[in-house]
Amino acid sequence: MFCEIVAGNLPSDKVAETERSLAFRDLNPVAPTHVLVIPKRHVESIGHLDAEMTADVADLVTTIQEVTRVEGIDESGYRVVANTGTHGAQSVFHLHFHVIGGRQLGWPPE
Ligand SMILES: [Zn+2]
Repeated sequence: MFCEIVAGNLPSDKVAETERSLAFRDLNPVAPTHVLVIPKRHVESIGHLDAEMTADVADLVTTIQEVTRVEGIDESGYRVVANTGTHGAQSVFHLHFHVIGGRQLGWPPE
């Protein structure tokens, strides 16, 4: 599904893009800012990252920072979440980081 967005076969509300990463709005936002940041290269989850993905991981972090600046939440704060596997409630098996902010979040979640 996310590979289809990267390929341009599915539409997305893009927030930021680099050679290696894509950031777009979550279809079911839980906060004023809710952006997904994904590597363009397919990898299932954090558990599937390896040394070959080092440059992609670095670019993801840079892109997350860019998203928080574009959204104006870099000073107010935000949360970055990667739901992983069954107990982590992962729903799409292409690594994605949720960048959530724009309101006061609670802790712990749920
Ligand atoms: Zn994929």
